[in-house]
Amino acid sequence: MKIEENNMSKQKENKLTFFTDWKYAPSPEATDHIRLQNQYELFINGKFVKPNSGKYFETINPATEKTIARIADANEKDVDTAVKAARQAYNKTWRKMPAKERAKYIFRIARLMQERARELAVIESMNGGKPIRESRDIDVPLAANHFFYYAGWADKLEYAFPNRSPKPLGVAGQIIPWNFPLLMAAWKIAPALATGNTVVLKPAETTPLTALKLAEIIQESGLPDGVVNIVTGFGATGAAIVNHKDVDKIAFTGSTNVGKWIQKATAGTDKKLTLELGGKAANIIFEDAPINQAVEGIVNGIFFNQGHVCCAGSRLFIQESVADEVIQKLKDRLETLIVGDPLDKNTDIGAINSKAQLQKINDYLKIGKADEAEMYQSNCEIPKKGFFVRPTLFLNTAQSHRISQEEIFGPVLAIQTFRTIEEVIEKANNIPYGLSAGVWTDKGSRIFNLTSKLRAGVVWANTYNKFDPTSPFGGYKESGFGREGGLHGLMPYLKF
Ligand code: NAP
Ligand code: MG
Repeated sequence: MKIEENNMSKQKENKLTFFTDWKYAPSPEATDHIRLQNQYELFINGKFVKPNSGKYFETINPATEKTIARIADANEKDVDTAVKAARQAYNKTWRKMPAKERAKYIFRIARLMQERARELAVIESMNGGKPIRESRDIDVPLAANHFFYYAGWADKLEYAFPNRSPKPLGVAGQIIPWNFPLLMAAWKIAPALATGNTVVLKPAETTPLTALKLAEIIQESGLPDGVVNIVTGFGATGAAIVNHKDVDKIAFTGSTNVGKWIQKATAGTDKKLTLELGGKAANIIFEDAPINQAVEGIVNGIFFNQGHVCCAGSRLFIQESVADEVIQKLKDRLETLIVGDPLDKNTDIGAINSKAQLQKINDYLKIGKADEAEMYQSNCEIPKKGFFVRPTLFLNTAQSHRISQEEIFGPVLAIQTFRTIEEVIEKANNIPYGLSAGVWTDKGSRIFNLTSKLRAGVVWANTYNKFDPTSPFGGYKESGFGREGGLHGLMPYLKF
């Protein structure tokens, strides 16, 4: 590590703290241990099969723009084959199997994921762009934990729902986004299997690789053929699952627009539906908050995973009396964030998931400036190749600004100040979304007051972006309905 001289003078100028210009030597995670094929087929009925269309698309590394593999593009016929396999597996094996035997398979999948955790983490970072520290320490362990947790429920459903004789629904169609590819697959598959359903899952077009690695793990676990089927493709593949007549349940995580379309498409059918959609969370800092921790919480809330988090704390509300202090500390902290190679263990902010998403974020930066919000970006260098953006603050934003109302899904924070608790509740709730929120204060009574008044599925107090398989997650209003995780996460897959 060294401090560069020219940076020293700049540092003094900016009155930044001494550590801001430390440079770390690169520390890239090894990639020689991962196994990837050049081409991936569809996982149907326990086997990898070629797509009916004969078509493939390329999946890239967003940090280098290089192609990693070719991926099968499933059409309606493939989806139909997958649903038939799932139906047959449901009727012939899975629903008849004693629950404690089902649990063993789910447990085995969790163990195999743990054994291959390092490989899964590297592939997740290569295909999705997220820093290896996050995929290694958060995504992969949490994904395995979801399988462990739901393995535990499989033979205890009678205790979870006493006197209600819970029964599986049948075939679940599951569609997931690109921001937590493996974790979202775990959130969907684990509770479905624990409750005795079979699955057809579609990963997002930009991040299919860890779902396909999970297919390999599922094959290795000896799970009966057809219980889990994984079909890759674009929106049309997802639509074919939604429209298939023999699917009993749709579980969707993604954008509010596609969610609305799915709700229309399933209206008038007897398909059960859960939607986990967008968000625009308020992170609220009161004057009595532990300011240094709060600044870390703000950084974690919006810059974690490049802001590709539906529950990201993308709106910051600071009580006026501490606004200057919080903003200065936030600016200082911004300068220390390292943007770059997702596989480097020092990286804080990796690559934006796709060119299209980068474009969307850059469009919002223009919109914010046009609305005359004051933009502040860190001075960090960003790689020339790949999809990167500097962490960005918008100061002095108004409730009416588009950057304060719309989901950007990038490392962009819209900041407002407030005076009273009534004002901040009003502002925080005055938005179409209601997925999550954060509250930073020393007073327990204030936390409880806010948790009951904020219209958000999750409210974190003096922390942010913490997840646990035992805890339900889901939204209000246009953030969707239904809960995933915890005991609540079993219900969308059961009838009583
Ligand atoms: P998206 O465009 O809605 O895509 C989500 C998934 O739906 C992808 O697999 C996508 O396939 C598929 N899809 C697209 N059009 C479809 C259609 N007509 N019918 C069925 N499936 C279709 O969202 P995204 O851009 O991937 O993800 C970002 C959004 O997801 C954000 O708005 C974010 O807030 C939300 N999100 C919410 C949560 C939550 O828990 N609430 C979690 C993560 C993300 P392709 O990828 O092939 O287009
Ligand atoms: Mg999409």
